[in-house]
Amino acid sequence: MSFNLENTVRPNIWKLKPYSCARDEFKGRPARVFLDANESPYNGPYNRYPDPLQEEVKARLAKVKSVPAENIFLGNGSDEAIDLVYRIFCNPQKDNVVAIEPTYGMYGVCADINDVEYRTVLLDDKYQVNADKVLAATDANTKVIWLCTPNNPTGNLLDRNEIEKILNNFGGIVVVDEAYSDFASERPFRLDIERWPNIIVLNTFSKAWGCASIRLGMAFASTEIIGLMNKVKYPYNINMLTQQKALEMLNELDRVNQWVASVRAERSKIANAFGELPICEKVYPTDANFFLARVKDANAIYNYLIDNGVVVRNRNRVTLCGNCLRITVGTPGENMELIAAMRRYK
Ligand SMILES: *Cc1c(COP(=O)(O)O)cnc(C)c1O
Repeated sequence: MSFNLENTVRPNIWKLKPYSCARDEFKGRPARVFLDANESPYNGPYNRYPDPLQEEVKARLAKVKSVPAENIFLGNGSDEAIDLVYRIFCNPQKDNVVAIEPTYGMYGVCADINDVEYRTVLLDDKYQVNADKVLAATDANTKVIWLCTPNNPTGNLLDRNEIEKILNNFGGIVVVDEAYSDFASERPFRLDIERWPNIIVLNTFSKAWGCASIRLGMAFASTEIIGLMNKVKYPYNINMLTQQKALEMLNELDRVNQWVASVRAERSKIANAFGELPICEKVYPTDANFFLARVKDANAIYNYLIDNGVVVRNRNRVTLCGNCLRITVGTPGENMELIAAMRRYK
């Protein structure tokens, strides 16, 4: 199926002339005195508007992520990128999107906020996706397909062949959310964005990078799609403190890699120990920094753990996740506390 960007974008967005901010206009020329943006001359460096396109951060990220800077969008968390996808591609009350189920809740919430129909396709009993089923759920008004790999809350990687089949056969946008790919062993789609004009890959500083508080998400896509996202976003969507902290983190790659290695090592230990508990019926395979476990009585165990000061995520009411708890991998000490509490459970 051929992909035509103009036919996929909302007409008002395609035509949109973006806000031009003061900092954009003099770009490239040397300047010393800034009297252009009605900023205060006092209280530096906080008095100045931040770089609207975050060029320093993107230059560093390009090296770390092996994606050219012009193929990177930065948002206020992945949440901003998710919302922008709706606002750029989906006409409210007319278009629809297709997502797997169960998956990350924000895709559905953002669909509701933007008044866009949200269609779901059930994963199989191994939480795997079937490309034909996903494609069969689309119609002429389907603008976006949402895929998440490793998937949240199930933890497993989706089958690469199925994802490629969707990318090759769908005439709209395919979002591949790789928020957890740092913890996985397969090649991420991020490295292959040039193969598909319709792919948007999402990454985040919130998981492996240990920076959920700074709110920084990434999207990787064609320069044309990145251009649309930059045109629609708020002009100064990433504040200066976040840009500074991101640069700091990007210079501490070794530390981040150590954290990831530690989480991966702990993941198999804690998943094994949890699987041996008498109340545990199944621990699902995971490539993320959490695992999903089916237990005898998820509500009772969830409440018991809270009484013992340990919070996990109760996914009992999520489709296909009855009696399932989603457990994030913590430090060795935190993981020991969870297992110790569970061993006292009667
Ligand atoms: C945690 C998570 C994110 C991260 O969202 P941010 O807004 O960047 O914090 C994105 N996608 C999925 C599937 C997640 O689980």
